[in-house]
Amino acid sequence: MIPEGDGRIIGYYGYPRRSLLAGARAAFGAELPLVDLDIDYGAPDAGLLPKATCSIITNIMNNAVWLSGRLAVVVAAVGEDKCDGGRNIAWLLKGMGFNVVESRFTGGGAGRPLVWSTSAGPLAERIDRIMETVVEPEPRGAAAQGPGTSGAPRRETGAIAAPPRCEPTHGFWGVPPNDFSILGLFPPTTHIYGWTRCVEAGRPDDLDLETFVDPGVPTVFFTQSFCAKQNLAHYLAERHGGLEVDCHREINDSIMAKVEAFIKLS
Ligand code: SF4
Repeated sequence: MIPEGDGRIIGYYGYPRRSLLAGARAAFGAELPLVDLDIDYGAPDAGLLPKATCSIITNIMNNAVWLSGRLAVVVAAVGEDKCDGGRNIAWLLKGMGFNVVESRFTGGGAGRPLVWSTSAGPLAERIDRIMETVVEPEPRGAAAQGPGTSGAPRRETGAIAAPPRCEPTHGFWGVPPNDFSILGLFPPTTHIYGWTRCVEAGRPDDLDLETFVDPGVPTVFFTQSFCAKQNLAHYLAERHGGLEVDCHREINDSIMAKVEAFIKLS
């Protein structure tokens, strides 16, 4: 969420290094809220990118233009932990006059144990929790009360303690979707794989971890359309007998029906 009013904010996208987020706060204001620019907040279309652009990258541009009067700085993931789209959009934003700090992971991330990826519970809530770990130093097990340190209100997840591991009945592989509605189709015993798992592990650039799935677990390989990760999704779906799904902006009925049938029949 975007904090109301016209106060200054710090934008970020992807999984920038925490030290750079901390540095941005030190430079521009310790109390400035951190706002994830990857998310669709309903910003008007700035019309600056081709239609065949991944929705997440389009969100970043639209949010930056929409919030330009409030953005003190954008902390941008531009390395292998994001994609060329992240690097290119940082270059474009710099050219438009935005203050941009670039972040790159180059292997050897700190590493954290998996909790939300491998436990039971509503999938959307667990993915939210994982994405909070980008800015929250102690995300798991903390009571979900009040705003996070990002300054943005949490989604209404209720008080969630770190849950125990469960055996997976299904899998969701991919990045957090632009449209979360697809996540409601999955049973609570769905394990999370792909880049989202890498985020929880603190290793967003780890391609080996990103391409890992437990053998035999019926898995939906989700990508945004026009994302290079479609190559991985296609290969992995073929190899593991999963379902490959890509979607541009909102999830349509046909995709919902396909995923629902796969989950019910597997
Ligand atoms: S969905 Fe793919 S193309 Fe879009 S920002 Fe993420 S990694 Fe980049």
